[in-house]
Amino acid sequence: MEAIAAKMKQVVQEKWKKRPLIISGPCSAETEQQVVETAVRLHKTGKVDIIRAGIWKPRTRPGSFEGIGAKGLPWLQQAKKLTGLPVAVEVAAGKQVEDALTFEVDVLWIGARTTVNPFSVQEVADALRGVDIPVFIKNPINPDLELWTGAVERVLKAGIKQVGLIHRGFSSYGNTEYRNAPMWHLAIEMKRRNPELIFINDPSHICGRRDILQEVAQEAIDLDYDGLIIETHIDPDKAWSDAKQQITPERLGEMLDQIRWRKEDVASEEYHAAMEKMRQQINQLDDELMQILSARMKVSEKIGQYKKDNNITILQTNRWNAILERAYTKGEKLGLSKEFITKYFDAVHMESINHQNKIFNS
Ligand code: PEP
Ligand code: MN
Repeated sequence: MEAIAAKMKQVVQEKWKKRPLIISGPCSAETEQQVVETAVRLHKTGKVDIIRAGIWKPRTRPGSFEGIGAKGLPWLQQAKKLTGLPVAVEVAAGKQVEDALTFEVDVLWIGARTTVNPFSVQEVADALRGVDIPVFIKNPINPDLELWTGAVERVLKAGIKQVGLIHRGFSSYGNTEYRNAPMWHLAIEMKRRNPELIFINDPSHICGRRDILQEVAQEAIDLDYDGLIIETHIDPDKAWSDAKQQITPERLGEMLDQIRWRKEDVASEEYHAAMEKMRQQINQLDDELMQILSARMKVSEKIGQYKKDNNITILQTNRWNAILERAYTKGEKLGLSKEFITKYFDAVHMESINHQNKIFNS
């Protein structure tokens, strides 16, 4: 028994280093047969490293299926026995950590609805003290990197050495094409701040539907993520939770075959020389842009002084509308999206207002 556990620890260590790291399995464990068959079919694809299954499901509304509970844990042990693959579950409370450890779960993750709550994260972290197990932390449902960082700190402080991050998108009001908006810029920033942590993407919960899963997974791989966690089910349409986003193990296999896997770097000197040259061009252009922006602010300060002398307000909505309209027309011709022009001019305009404010207050 001890020997098997030690062997599994070693498998997990190896998986932890593998790129891409692929985690897959049902949103929820439903029956023993469903868990075991999903695992066996995933194993057959030869592409999956860790089997996932939700045992306790924090659902947004009561009345939906809230997980099978600890009775599903032996099913995961069975799946592990038949496939040799490590298993992962979500934990949201101290007791759940205890139960998962009793049933030899190999990897844990903290879900998005738990990461938002420092009390719950702390409870999970306390239960993990002295335990050697990898823990993934999903982003909180709201776009708040500090909350995500806080959860990471709590888990690290509990002594967990293998910590990974899962980007599963962020809730937003109203209907978008996604179930949870990816807000890639936030994920990129989190990855930048934590270069030592594994960073994987959860296209299933970002998309909430099957048809755009591959596209989002590809985008994550293009952004140098370390792996993917994707929900699979033997009969996706009949899944007890998240039916619309689940795919069969075989479809996952096909999808992973079709993804174009990228490298972060290549050894070729020619490539590096060409990249270096283009990066210098970019630096040069960025410098010029900043010079131009600084010159623009100087003009804006002069205007500020003039407005002050003539007792005129800083903001003039008509002028601001005219600037934007002009920029949209020009920007379109230059291949710049309306979204970018809006964000860019907003930032420039705010900076300009700040400069004029200083003049008004001096
Ligand atoms: C899940 O992975 O099934 C899950 C509940 O995800 P999230 O915490 O991202 O909503
Ligand atoms: Mn799910």
